[in-house]
Amino acid sequence: MMTRTRFAPSPTGNVHIGNMRAAIFNWLYARHTGGKFLLRVEDTDRERSTPEAISALLDAMDWLGLDVDEEPLYQSTRMDAHLAAAEQLLAAGHAYKEDKGGTGQGECIIFKMPQEDMIFEDEIKGTLKKAAADTQDFVIVRSNGTPVFHLANVLDDIEQGITHVIRGDDHIENTYRHVALYKALGAPVPKFAHLPMIINAQGKPYSKRDGDAFVGDFKEKGFLGETLFNYLALLGWSPGDDREVMTRDEMIAAFELTSCKSSPAQVDLRKLVWMNGEYIRAMKPAAFSEMARNELSAAGVDVGADADAVFELMQSRTKLPSEIGPATAFFFTDDFEYDQKAVEKKLLKEGVFQTLEKIAEIFQTLETFDEATVDKALHDFVEQSGLGFGAVMPPIRIAVSGQQSGPDLAPVLTILGKDNVLARIAKTIERFS
Ligand code: GLU
Repeated sequence: MMTRTRFAPSPTGNVHIGNMRAAIFNWLYARHTGGKFLLRVEDTDRERSTPEAISALLDAMDWLGLDVDEEPLYQSTRMDAHLAAAEQLLAAGHAYKEDKGGTGQGECIIFKMPQEDMIFEDEIKGTLKKAAADTQDFVIVRSNGTPVFHLANVLDDIEQGITHVIRGDDHIENTYRHVALYKALGAPVPKFAHLPMIINAQGKPYSKRDGDAFVGDFKEKGFLGETLFNYLALLGWSPGDDREVMTRDEMIAAFELTSCKSSPAQVDLRKLVWMNGEYIRAMKPAAFSEMARNELSAAGVDVGADADAVFELMQSRTKLPSEIGPATAFFFTDDFEYDQKAVEKKLLKEGVFQTLEKIAEIFQTLETFDEATVDKALHDFVEQSGLGFGAVMPPIRIAVSGQQSGPDLAPVLTILGKDNVLARIAKTIERFS
C-alpha cells in the first residue's frame, strides 16, 4: 500500500518549530517510501485561522521546500461530512446525546468509549496502553452544533486516505480516542508515530521564552531554509551515524521511523548557528555575493562593483548574513567606526604608534602588495622586532578596520590596497595621538 502522510496544522499566524518538525518528518517519510505528502489545514477556529495565518503557514512550508502532492484539504469545508458521521455514530449506538451540565443550552453528541483496555503500537514509542477504567466518553459535536477536533481530525484522515499519522507526542492521549473512533466508523486504523517533545536546556517544552521558536523568526534572522530543515530533521531523528550536515537526498534516503528517538530532543541554538555557517560556506559564490550585497545595501553601505574579493574572504567565516554588514563595511568606506574598547586595549599603549609607523615604512617599500608579499613582510617584522604577533597584528587591524577581529590580516590589507592601508594607518595615528 502506498504511504500517505500529512501535515495537519491549525494555523495561528506563527508556525512553531515543533509543528514544522512534524511536517518535515511526514515529508521525509513520504519521500523515503515513494508515497504522498499531503496538507490538511485544520482551520475550524475561524478567529485564529485568518487568511494571513494560512498564508504564513504556506510561506513557511514553501521556504522549507515542503512540497505537497495534492490540493490541500481545508477542514472548515468538511463540516457537513463531520456532522453526518456523528449522526451515523448515534444511529449505530456508538454515541449519545446529552445536555452537558444541564445548562439548557442544547445537547451535545458524546462518543461512547468502548469498555475495554486501549492499546496501539506506536512506530516510535512502541506499545502504548490505557486501562478501560482510565478512558472517558468525550464530546464529538458541541451543543452549538460544531464538530470537535477529535471527530474532524479522524474523519479527515480517513478522507485523505492517510496511512501514517506522524505528530507530536502531546497527541498520544488523543490517539486512544482516535483509535476508538476509527474502529466505530469501520475504517482501517492508520499507523501512528509520535515524535518526542522538543525541549530547552532545562528540559522544559521549548517555547518563545527560550528564544526564537517560530519559523518566521529564523527566516528573519537570516537562517537559510536548508539549514532549518536539516536542523529540525535531526531533532528526534538521526541517520544512525554521525552525519549532521546532510543534503535533502541523503536525508530522504536515510529516513526511517524506526530510527526516530522516543526521548525528548533538546534545542541547541549554537549548533543551529554553526550549521548555518556550514550551509553558507557551501553556497555558490554568486549566491553569497548577492546575499552580501543585499545585507550591505540594507545597511546603507555603497559597495560598488568590485567587491568579490571581500565576499570571497567573508563567505567561509559568515554564520549569519547579519554579520556581513558590520564585518565588512570598513572595506567600502574610509569613514568606519573604531571599536573603542579595542582602541583602548590595543592601540593606546606605549610604543604602539612607533610600531605602526615602522610597519608603514616597510609597506611603503614593498613593490608589490599581494597577499604573499604582505604576509612575508608582516612575519619578517614580527620576527626581527621581537615584538610578537599579539603586539603587531591587532594594532594594524584596528588601524585599517576599527575592529579587533576579522578575516586573516594579509588578505584584508591586500584587498584594501597599499595606498589605502598607509592612509588609514596615518589617519589612525593622527586621530589617537
Ligand atoms: N491540528 C492539530 C495540531 O496542530 C493536528 C494534529 C495532528 O493530528 O497532526 O496539533
